[in-house]
Amino acid sequence: MSDTIKTLETDILVIGAGPAGLKAAETLAAAGQSVLVADAMPNPARKFLMAGRGGLNLTHSEALFDFIARYGEARGWLAPTIRQFDPQDLIEWCHALGEETFVGSSGRVFPKSFKASPLLRAWLKRLNEKGVAFALRHRFTDFDADGQAQFTTAEGPVSVKAKAIVLALGGASWPKLGSRGDWVATLQAHGIAIRPFLPSNMGVLVNWSDHIVPRFAGEPIKRVTLTHGKQVARGEAVLTQTGLEGGAIYALSASIRTALQTSPTTVLTLDLRPDMPEKILIERLQQPRGKASQSTFLHRAAGLAPIGIALLREACGGPLPQDALALARMIKALPVTLTGCAGLERAISSAGGIMRDAVDEHFMLKAMAGVFVCGEMLDWEAPTGGYLLQACFAQGYAAALGVTHWLNTPSAS
Ligand SMILES: Cc1cc2nc3c(=O)[nH]c(=O)nc-3n(C[C@H](O)[C@H](O)[C@H](O)COP(=O)(O)OP(=O)(O)OC[C@H]3O[C@@H](n4cnc5c(N)ncnc54)[C@H](O)[C@@H]3O)c2cc1C
Repeated sequence: MSDTIKTLETDILVIGAGPAGLKAAETLAAAGQSVLVADAMPNPARKFLMAGRGGLNLTHSEALFDFIARYGEARGWLAPTIRQFDPQDLIEWCHALGEETFVGSSGRVFPKSFKASPLLRAWLKRLNEKGVAFALRHRFTDFDADGQAQFTTAEGPVSVKAKAIVLALGGASWPKLGSRGDWVATLQAHGIAIRPFLPSNMGVLVNWSDHIVPRFAGEPIKRVTLTHGKQVARGEAVLTQTGLEGGAIYALSASIRTALQTSPTTVLTLDLRPDMPEKILIERLQQPRGKASQSTFLHRAAGLAPIGIALLREACGGPLPQDALALARMIKALPVTLTGCAGLERAISSAGGIMRDAVDEHFMLKAMAGVFVCGEMLDWEAPTGGYLLQACFAQGYAAALGVTHWLNTPSAS
């Protein structure tokens, strides 16, 4: 290891080889710039690959107006960016890399292979053909007095001289995949306003009794409707050692997180039989039970799976009511007390990051001319369903156009 600073030179330096950074690099290379992509990890796009494990949900097929509404408070800010590189553009981009797509029953769009690895392979090959260079195992630490990005590497410090820089350093979830928010203090020291990172699309904590965990941890609660405050989500949840996770929980995670910021607990309500009206359920539960055990009867009359019956028992903390009306009401509105949010280590994404006011309409930092930012490191959040990747791709594209615009503005550069 040497203390001499090695200097690299490129037109454009992109730091962060996730989807946002790679999209920016691709766009800038196509515009004729020499591009160097630096990343702290030994391989690019680790989180993108992980996203492909459970099925890479690239984007969503719903109408653009509804799509944009999913960004909640950030929708006004992100609308022009998403319209500029919209779900159809992302689908066509995927096709051009040789990966057909399909629309799942929920309207979500996936590559046919369902995975990220073939797509990433084809993408990296294309970037290579366009001359994009990579500097892996390079951890960005700061800018020097001339605005050159500084890195630590196993071989010693490296400095990169570039005409413009795109930061695409990700949020702070799943830190072991690379994005661990270690840049926050650095950018704050340069006067950039950053909202602290919080888990988003994360699991929730429940103080389960010792009865339920050994038998049901890891089991899905299928076809359930969850209600938290005014928010309703339908789908599947998974019971874990420490609480609940899964798509329907993630859909309510922002609302749950907000409630837990001002209260130590909050109640989630489960409808275990959302397709069966309460009246029918009562009639069925009034049928004679005969010699059947209560579990067998509940399964037969109400169609409850063992995990549903266990959740009813858990909520009662003792024997279940015998009365059909009381039982039906519990099945339709089972309260589960949540005691916290699972941490950033396993959250699908994060909320928080560089605040909207810190960037101009081209995603350039107002306090640092020539430095652009994109992707999950910015302060927006979205539910699962393809909205996260779509926004990262669209912002990578927008930041790249911003760089080109800035380089072509004589007074600016
Ligand atoms: C388990 C899981 C499943 C997911 N599934 C989906 C899905 O199906 N659909 C969907 O839309 N979204 C999904 N997501 C979310 C999606 O993967 C992210 O929103 C997306 O990867 C963020 O892209 P990004 O480019 O902003 O950041 P990242 O992908 O996090 O990339 C940031 C890069 O910056 C690098 N970096 C960070 N700090 C430094 C530093 N100091 N120096 C150098 N390099 C640094 C990191 O190593 C990393 O490579 C999933 C996420 C997870 C964890």
